[in-house]
Amino acid sequence: MDQLKKHIKILMELGFENIFTEEGSAGMDIKEKEKLMSQINEQIQNCTNCDLYKSRTQAVLGEGNLNAKLMFIGEAPGGEEDKQGRPFVGRAGKLLTKLIEAAGYRREDFYIANICKCRPPGNRTPTPWEMERCFPYLKKQIEIIDPKVLCLLGATAGRAFLNRNVAITKERGSIINWEGRILYLTFHPAYVLRNPDAEITLFEDIKKAIQIAYQE
Ligand code: SF4
Repeated sequence: MDQLKKHIKILMELGFENIFTEEGSAGMDIKEKEKLMSQINEQIQNCTNCDLYKSRTQAVLGEGNLNAKLMFIGEAPGGEEDKQGRPFVGRAGKLLTKLIEAAGYRREDFYIANICKCRPPGNRTPTPWEMERCFPYLKKQIEIIDPKVLCLLGATAGRAFLNRNVAITKERGSIINWEGRILYLTFHPAYVLRNPDAEITLFEDIKKAIQIAYQE
């Protein structure tokens, strides 16, 4: 509850109004969703709420289907993402796209985003404080898209949601209830690039997340 209060406070500081309105969910039409996402994009491009703004080329909002039932969420943009302004377009992103396609879908069927919207210098892991400062933007995106499942890619994304350390090799495949939605934990594709044996597990997890999201 304390964490929730903290996020509400930060959202208010960022200028968000009507944080919990129902219009911010499934009932909203696509034009309204696009408008709200573009407002968030404007805010993050000008955001100085943590020091990551100092080294970014541009902030990376996220992209994909605004009506998706499944969001893939990583920790932060890397070099290629920082350059292109798009999430998961570097080597790890290409692997994620490949596995989504192997499962019979397109990446644009889902929404893909990160906890932190700006690239940490040298691609280091974002700090808990940086993630806390940025989390309200993601929270707002989730409210707008209104997905059933949030597939968290890697321990750092898991930590941002659960406020504790996550042992991803032990906890991947876990299904956790979070504010009325389902968190599904799996590996970050960058981990799989370093540990190719884990690719099949990530693939199975992606299929499982899709199945949970779209089953009635
Ligand atoms: S990482 Fe998030 S909180 Fe930090 S400056 Fe970028 S948009 Fe703002």
